[in-house]
Amino acid sequence: MAYRPKVVDVDKAGSNDKDGLYEFVLHLEDGTMCRVFYNRFPEWKLTNVSRLLKTPCPICRKDYICNCFEKFKVELDAQMQDGRLEQLV
Ligand SMILES: [Zn+2]
Repeated sequence: MAYRPKVVDVDKAGSNDKDGLYEFVLHLEDGTMCRVFYNRFPEWKLTNVSRLLKTPCPICRKDYICNCFEKFKVELDAQMQDGRLEQLV
């Protein structure tokens, strides 16, 4: 069964409006939380994603650092670009 992250909530965790840099915490449907970094210029680009270590990874089950969510950058970005980013900034 393929894992598919679903973003249900987003918190803005930090920003540098001048440089267009933003940090968000994503809450996924399964309780996983991820930190993502965006660069707004010249267009919104997800530059980094890492899972917060509050819950084990839903993919590999590790409770320490893993890179699983690297594979879901495009998926997470697509959900963020779907109207969420504009509401957050
Ligand atoms: Zn993992």
